[in-house]
Amino acid sequence: MSSGSQLGNTLIRADLNVPMHGKVVKDNFRIIKAIEYLVDLRKISKSVTFLSHLGRPDGINLDYSLKPVAEEMSLLLNEEVLFINSLHGPEVKNHIDENPGKVFLLENLRFHNEETENNFDFAKKVTENFDSFILDAFGAAHRNHASIVSFGNFIEAYQGKLMTNEVKNLELLTNSPKKPFSVILGGAKISDKLQLINKLLPSVDNLLIGGGMCFTFLKALGNNIGKSLYEEDYLQKAKELLDSDNGKKIYLPSDFGVTKSIESGIRVDKDISEFSDDDIGVDISERTIKEFASVLVTSNTVFWNGPMGIFEIDNFKKGTQSITDIVSNLDAYTVVGGGDSVSAIRIFSELSKFNHISTGGGASLKYLQGNELPGVNIYKPLIL
Ligand code: AMP
Repeated sequence: MSSGSQLGNTLIRADLNVPMHGKVVKDNFRIIKAIEYLVDLRKISKSVTFLSHLGRPDGINLDYSLKPVAEEMSLLLNEEVLFINSLHGPEVKNHIDENPGKVFLLENLRFHNEETENNFDFAKKVTENFDSFILDAFGAAHRNHASIVSFGNFIEAYQGKLMTNEVKNLELLTNSPKKPFSVILGGAKISDKLQLINKLLPSVDNLLIGGGMCFTFLKALGNNIGKSLYEEDYLQKAKELLDSDNGKKIYLPSDFGVTKSIESGIRVDKDISEFSDDDIGVDISERTIKEFASVLVTSNTVFWNGPMGIFEIDNFKKGTQSITDIVSNLDAYTVVGGGDSVSAIRIFSELSKFNHISTGGGASLKYLQGNELPGVNIYKPLIL
């Protein structure tokens, strides 16, 4: 597409699946990213209409309406984003025709099961009101859903700039990253990330594991982890990984902030060897932070996904806060993979201190595992 040409009425599939607190947007990072190129896009479009999913509503459920997201977008853009309470039909067309030059947001794609079922008629109906389509929802690119893989069958389609940037930046990690390459993994569950660990271990130099997921490894090594989170079904796999040649690259925490009750917020710091049966590990502690820091400062590439503890609670945030601090000040190529780590960075540091912050939690992990994502590179990139 040559610059200056008209896209006409443009439909853009963004990832506006943001964390909500009731009807209030809790973290607007994905919205900020989704509107990053809007000024340029409007120069070549008659109108711009966003659409997205939000959560898993399982049919029409107004608790999952995108209306609050339209309100947050309006605040960020300093102009009203018109919310259209449907996805297709004359109502959508009339709104767009009657409000020339405005920005619109349609209702939650997942109010219709046809979206997740990748229904062709649905794709045809939604795209009917538009002249061109931009796929820019990296966070949903691992899904075989209608808006990801089928809208382009009915209308001229492009890959959006956000998605193209995501792929370019993540490729730097899979395509001969500058060594030493260190990966920090945390968060609640090992089951989500085991495949990633298997895939990454041969190419990484150091794998630092914190969060709830480290306890499955520590238990597999015979430690008493008290009542800390762990996954029984993965003990054997964790043990095999640690026993393998690549297991030598894995760094596990040796001291923790522990509590008897998460709700109490009371924290005591202790060595893993001192855990009693009713201790719950909720954060990494000083010695571990120092050890992780000494590995990270020697690294030239760092990928981070998942908090080091229950950072949402004040007394359990020290580990995640320290790692945010350390990574944001490294002289290395630093990438953060979506989700809770991004929320942590927004609380404890600045997004601009990292080379790339992915909008896609699950999608970025799947991409790094070497999976072909159904929505990546299926349309020509939009040049703005
Ligand atoms: P995930 O979605 O798997 O990245 O998990 C993120 C969640 O993991 C956050 O809400 C954290 O509070 C939680 N988390 C981190 N460390 C722990 C821990 N030691 N025990 C329980 N939950 C944790």
